[in-house]
Amino acid sequence: MSAKVWLVGAGPGDPELLTLKAVRALGEADVVLIDDLVNSAVLDHCPTARVIPVGKRGGCRSTPQAFIHRLMLRYARQGRCVVRLKGGDPCIFGRGGEEAQWLKERGIEVELVNGITAGLAGATRCDIPLTLRGVARGVTLVTAHTQDDSSLNWQALAQSGTTLVIYMGVAKLAEIAGHLRDGGLAADTPVAMIENASLPEQRECRSDLAGMERDALRFELKSPAILVIGAVAATESAVQASACQA
Ligand code: SAH
Repeated sequence: MSAKVWLVGAGPGDPELLTLKAVRALGEADVVLIDDLVNSAVLDHCPTARVIPVGKRGGCRSTPQAFIHRLMLRYARQGRCVVRLKGGDPCIFGRGGEEAQWLKERGIEVELVNGITAGLAGATRCDIPLTLRGVARGVTLVTAHTQDDSSLNWQALAQSGTTLVIYMGVAKLAEIAGHLRDGGLAADTPVAMIENASLPEQRECRSDLAGMERDALRFELKSPAILVIGAVAATESAVQASACQA
């Protein structure tokens, strides 16, 4: 009985951004539990595995986390090779850490496999160099959505000198812009809003802090999208066709 679970990042959507390790894990899988932000094209790498969708979005009722835990445990204890496939990177706003911990506490071997997280992929696909030398001294990945509604230290973020990459922010654009401006970021700080990063339907909307909510509305920005906030977000994309200028 191998009793092993692979917690694998499937990347942001483009199947070519899958790692070779992810491909190997999928090739060995008997059971694949798949989130709904994962592009099902990656399932080409596990043609014989049993695939179980356990997504939390869309019109369907969400799969409770406890149920996902128990499912992984059951299959692992049966000696099956289990792959838990998550969008982006499993440990960037993906509960990979929680799931790994829970399984390890029950004696299950866990192997985490990196995926390319949406924020990094989205920026790169729009030719935005997140840590452009002399412009941004780092990058901060932030979620706008917290489990306990605790508030972020927006002032510290605004003054960090880093590019901010914000996940799960589409429904909170006004709030984010307000907090960052109150925290000291200039109204004309460049913003890029990138929807469906790395997929054929990717769209990008360029704006600034003052205009981002209005422009996103006009653009009909939808989730999943990431926001890139900071001077580097003014870097022009080679493909400007779908960009909306403020
Ligand atoms: N673990 C994932 C993030 C999961 S949280 C990762 O590392 O990418 C879900 C949020 O990720 C979405 O609300 C959105 O903000 C972002 N996201 C995921 N896939 C995306 C994509 N293809 N394009 C833009 N944003 C995406």
